[in-house]
Amino acid sequence: MEAVRDFFSSFMLREMLKGLKLTGKYFFARKITIQYPEEKTPMSPRFRGLHALRRYPNGEERCIACKLCEAVCPAMAITIESERREDNTRRTTRYDIDLTKCIFCGFCEESCPVDSIVETDIHEYHGEKRGDLYFTKEMLLAVGDRYEASIAANREADARYR
Ligand code: SF4
Ligand code: SF4
Repeated sequence: MEAVRDFFSSFMLREMLKGLKLTGKYFFARKITIQYPEEKTPMSPRFRGLHALRRYPNGEERCIACKLCEAVCPAMAITIESERREDNTRRTTRYDIDLTKCIFCGFCEESCPVDSIVETDIHEYHGEKRGDLYFTKEMLLAVGDRYEASIAANREADARYR
């Protein structure tokens, strides 16, 4: 009986019509595929991408070299060295992040008492050799300087949930 049903089913092109029905349904539906990189999907202000070190509006580094981020980092990706300045404030002389070790957990930015180290929504970067992903203090400050407006906007958008 089943064989007879299968025969008539194939004779009537039933499977093909079912397939065409499905194709037709998606042909007229709203398209969800985007043409990356020309088109981009919206991103959460909490996105954890490339790290940056921030400054205050007067240009002073926010980081006070408390080393909380270094201590909390589960991947031991952060290396900090510091010294006391003449005005008795403490600042880093070295702040490196090895992004080949980083797991982008966000613990460093959550632990920072002065909003200095942050993870930006920048995700379009790459390295062609291991050393390219070793970010020094100067590189991290440069990222912060360049993207401060978007970093501040994202933190503002997320402030009430923090
Ligand atoms: S995001 Fe996580 S793993 Fe990466 S540097 Fe920060 S604390 Fe370490
Ligand atoms: S980035 Fe923040 S948590 Fe890390 S050493 Fe500087 S002030 Fe402390």
